[in-house]
Amino acid sequence: MEKYLSQLNEAQLAPTIQVNGPMIIIAGAGSGKTRVLTYRIAYLMSKGVDSFNILALTFTNKAAKEMKERIAQIVGDGEAKNLWMGTFHSVFAKILRFEGHHLGFPSNFTIYDTQDSQKLMGSIIKEMGLDKDIYKTKQVYSRISSYKNSLITVKAYFKNPELMEADAMARRPRMGEIYKEYVDRCFKAGAMDFDDLLLRTNELLTRFPNVLAQYQDKFRYILVDEYQDTNHSQYLIVRALADRFQNICVVGDDAQSIYAFRGANINNILNFQKDYDNVKMYRLEQNYRSTKNIVGAANSVIEHNKTKLDKVVWTANDVGEKVIVHRALTDGDEGRYVASTIWETKMNQQLNNNDFAVLYRTNAQSRAIEDALRKRDIPYRIYGGLSFYQRKEIKDVTAYLRLILNSADEEALKRVINYPGRGIGQTTIDRLIVAANQTGKTIYDVIKDIDSVPININNGTKNKLRDFVTLIESYKVMNQTANAFDLAEHVTKTSGLIRELNKDGTPEGVTRMDNVQELLNGIKDFVEGQMELADAGDSLAEFLEDVALATDMDADKGDPDHVALMTIHLAKGLEFGHVFIVGMEEDLFPSAMSMNTRSELEEERRLFYVALTRAEKQAYLTYTLSRYRWGKLIDAEPSRFIEEIDEQFVDITTPLKERFNPMLDPSIFDDVEPNRVRFAKPKTAKIKKKEPKKQPEKFQISTPKKLKPVSKTEKAPSSFDTKLVVGDTVNHQRFGRGEVMKIEGSGGDIKAEIKFQNGATKKLLLRFAKLEIL
Ligand code: ATP
Ligand code: MG
Repeated sequence: MEKYLSQLNEAQLAPTIQVNGPMIIIAGAGSGKTRVLTYRIAYLMSKGVDSFNILALTFTNKAAKEMKERIAQIVGDGEAKNLWMGTFHSVFAKILRFEGHHLGFPSNFTIYDTQDSQKLMGSIIKEMGLDKDIYKTKQVYSRISSYKNSLITVKAYFKNPELMEADAMARRPRMGEIYKEYVDRCFKAGAMDFDDLLLRTNELLTRFPNVLAQYQDKFRYILVDEYQDTNHSQYLIVRALADRFQNICVVGDDAQSIYAFRGANINNILNFQKDYDNVKMYRLEQNYRSTKNIVGAANSVIEHNKTKLDKVVWTANDVGEKVIVHRALTDGDEGRYVASTIWETKMNQQLNNNDFAVLYRTNAQSRAIEDALRKRDIPYRIYGGLSFYQRKEIKDVTAYLRLILNSADEEALKRVINYPGRGIGQTTIDRLIVAANQTGKTIYDVIKDIDSVPININNGTKNKLRDFVTLIESYKVMNQTANAFDLAEHVTKTSGLIRELNKDGTPEGVTRMDNVQELLNGIKDFVEGQMELADAGDSLAEFLEDVALATDMDADKGDPDHVALMTIHLAKGLEFGHVFIVGMEEDLFPSAMSMNTRSELEEERRLFYVALTRAEKQAYLTYTLSRYRWGKLIDAEPSRFIEEIDEQFVDITTPLKERFNPMLDPSIFDDVEPNRVRFAKPKTAKIKKKEPKKQPEKFQISTPKKLKPVSKTEKAPSSFDTKLVVGDTVNHQRFGRGEVMKIEGSGGDIKAEIKFQNGATKKLLLRFAKLEIL
C-alpha cells in the first residue's frame, strides 16, 4: 500500500488516509478526485475495513468497473469483488430485489427503461381519450420523472394546489390522473422505472426503519463520486444510509454540475457541511491531466460564472499547444476538418484512434462527423446513442424473457403478444387492457381466464390467445431447469422470432439477425461468468437487470481502438489526449433553449468547462458559418464561449479561402444529403448572380482578427458599432443590402436587426458581422 500512497501528492494523501468521519473534497477538473476515491477504498481495506461494508457510488457502471479493477491491482482480486460499487440505479436495484417485497413488489420485478415507460404513458393517454398533441408523451414523461426525483408522490401531488395549477396552466389539467394511473399500472405490472429505483428506495428506507438500520450497519463507509450531480432523491438516500456512522466521503466540483435539467441540485454539495457534524473539507488544486494552455483556457471560461466556489486550479504540466479555434463553412466541412486533423495528427505523432474524442452538445451533430470519419476509414464509436439493448429486435427477445420471469409485465406482453404475428389484433389487445383495468387482474391473467372474464372476443381469437399463453407457460417450465442461454436460444427459435427475421432478406434484416446472435453470445458469456463464480443465482433475472441498466457507455463492443463520439454530458469524468468540441455556435452551444436565465446560461458554461477539461494535450473548437438544423440552412454565429477564453490560450487559424468557398470547390456539397442540396443551391446561386466579382471574399465574414476575443481592456464596442443607427442602409457580404431595424444589447454584445432585400430579417452580432454602411 505504501507504494501506492507515494503516487499521491500531499493534498491528495490527507483525505485518502482519513479513515473515519464525514469529508468533502471539492476540487477542479483533473485534480485527482476519482483517484483519491479509488486509493481511499484500497486504503480502508488495508486498514482492516471489511470490503462488504463499503459502498461506492459512481456516475457510470464503467467507472465503477475501472475503479474496481484498479483496487484489485492494489489489494488483490478476491476482496475487491465484495465491494458494493456502481451507479445509484444499479446498486439500489439490487437492494430492491431483496427488499422490494416490503413495498409489494416481487423480487423479479421488471425494470422499465425509458422506452417502456413512454409507451405505457402513451397508451394511458390514449385510453383516457386525451389529445396527444397537448399531452405529448415525452413531456408527460419528463414531468412525471421530475415529480419522482423531487419525491412528489401521487398523494403529495394531489395535496399540492400549486403543482396542479401549473399543469393546468400548461393545458394539461389531467396530469395528476395520468401520474396516478401510470404508477398503479407499473405496480400491477410488477415494474419499476428508472426513477422508481430511487423513489422506492427512499420509500423503503423511510417506511421500514429495520431495513434502514440493516443497511446503515452494512454500509459503514460510503463514497460518492461526482456528488455535484446528485438529485434530491439520491441525496436523501445517501443521507439516510450515512446517518448512523457518518463515514461519508463525497467528491465533486461545483464547476462541473451539468445535470440541473434532470433535477441535480448543486446545493447538495454546497450544504454538505451543514448536513453532518465536524465535516473535514479538502481541496485539491493541482491538475494532472491537461497542459497549461488547456487549464488556463478552462479557468478563464469558468471565471465568467457568477455562481461558483472560489477554487484554484493550476498544473505543473507542459505549456503545450494553444486551444485551436477553427471556422468551417458547413457541418460537412466541419466533419472533414475533424477527420483530416485526426488523420494527420495520428500520422505525425504516431497516435492511436482512441487518443481522440469528438464532443458535441446534441446527438444530432454526430452524423456529419461520422460521415467524414467513415470516408477516411477511421474507426469510431458513438456512445450514448440508442443502446444495443434498446434496438427493436433485442427488445423483442428480451421482452419474451421478461414475460417468462414476470408475466405481469404489461409492456413486455404488449410487445410480443402479436409479434411474430399470431392474428391477435389491436382491438383485441385494447379490449384485454380494458378488461384488466376493470377486473384488477393483469392482462396475462385475463388471457389465462379468458372464459370466465366478460369480454367481447370471438372464439377464433380466444384460441389464439390460449395458444400464446401455452407457449409462454412452456417457457416458464423450461426456465425452472434450463440456464438462461439455453432458454433464450430456445425462445428465439420456437417463438418464430428467428423465422421472422430470416424472412427479411434486406441488409438491415441480416444485421438484426446478427444482433440477436450477439445477444445470445452475451447471455452465454454471462452464464459462463456466473458458473465461474459458482454463483447459483437466477442468471436470467440478473442478466435482464444488467440489460435494463446498461447504458451504451458500459457496453464494450467492436474495435477497441476507436475515436470516441459522444455528447459532453456523457464525457464527464473521462479524459482523452486530443478533444474536438464541435458546433461552437450561438443557439447550439450555448443551446437556444438555455439562454433565458442566467442560471441556464451558467450551466451551459459549466458544460463547456467540462468539455475543455477532458483534453490532456490538445483541444480544438470548431464552428460553422451555416448549419442544417431542422431541415433548414441556418446562419450560425460563433459561440460566445469562444470569446470568453482568454486570448493568450487560443490560436485562431486562418482557413484557406478555397476550402471555404463552395463556388470554387463545388465538391464541398458532395456528401450532403440530396434534400439538403436543394436548400443550398438557390442560396449560393443567388449570391453568385448578384456580385460575381467579389466571390472569393464572400465567406470571410469574420476574419480571424475580427473574431479574436476582445481583450478585457478593449471591451468597449468598436467605433463602428457606435456609428450604426436605426434606418441605416448596410451591405453584408453574404446577405447583401439591408436596412437596420433595431439595435440592442451593449458592450461586445450589440446586435442589429437587419431587414435584407432578399426578404430575410436577421439579428447579427456586430462584433462578428462585417457590415458596410452605405
Ligand atoms: P474530473 O473532475 O474530470 O472527474 P478528477 O478530479 O476525478 O477529474 P482524476 O480523473 O482522478 O481527476 O485524475 C486526472 C488524471 O490525473 C488521471 O489520469 C489521474 O491518473 C492523474 N493523476 C491524478 N493524481 C495524480 C498524481 N498525484 N500523480 C500523477 N497523476 C495523477
Ligand atoms: Mg473524476
